Amino acid sequence: MRLIFLGPPGAGKGTQAKLLTERYGIPQLSTGDMLRAAVAQATEVGKRAKAVMDAGQLVSDEIVNEIVSDRIDAPDCAKGFILDGYPRTVPQAVALDLMLESKGLKLDAVIELKVDEAALVRRMENRVAETVAAGGTVRSDDNPEAFKRRLTEYREKTAPLSEYYAGTGQLKTVDGMADVNTVTAEIEKILA
Ligand code: AMP
Repeated sequence: MRLIFLGPPGAGKGTQAKLLTERYGIPQLSTGDMLRAAVAQATEVGKRAKAVMDAGQLVSDEIVNEIVSDRIDAPDCAKGFILDGYPRTVPQAVALDLMLESKGLKLDAVIELKVDEAALVRRMENRVAETVAAGGTVRSDDNPEAFKRRLTEYREKTAPLSEYYAGTGQLKTVDGMADVNTVTAEIEKILA
């Protein structure tokens, strides 16, 4: 099973991807998590990505295409994977198509979580409050200013992917405003 989750920041892509990893026994490949790990380890990629990420802007296609291509080759991806936060631009989607073709792989579905943007800011604030309450570390791009910039980046660069995948016939849309279990059930119906 090879899936892509599309949707603006805070739409619940990470939450749904996590639930599906348990169900299908395939890993969730979050480019955001991979980049944050690179920043934490101060690798060359991490050093290049940090300022861009903190500003809520997109890291270069070249960097993310390479980390995804390497990650897909890992043994735990043999049965499939769930891409969360990638592709984020049409050129990344084109690169992914070529990448999969060269590896002899195909996507099973592209699932878009549709959400109301005003509700996203509240979700982001809740996520920060929950993380603080649990004693966790708040992401450095989880603040209203960077979040608004991430939404703008989404509208300008990522939203056109819906049209791209509608064109390939792979796009499935789910109402991401419903509660978590309902969203999961809708996704499972699509994948059944
Ligand atoms: P996320 O955890 O998916 O919200 O990603 C956090 C940040 O990582 C984004 O705001 C970008 O700066 C960067 N990032 C994650 N995935 C990508 C991607 N596919 N292309 C470019 N930048 C990305």
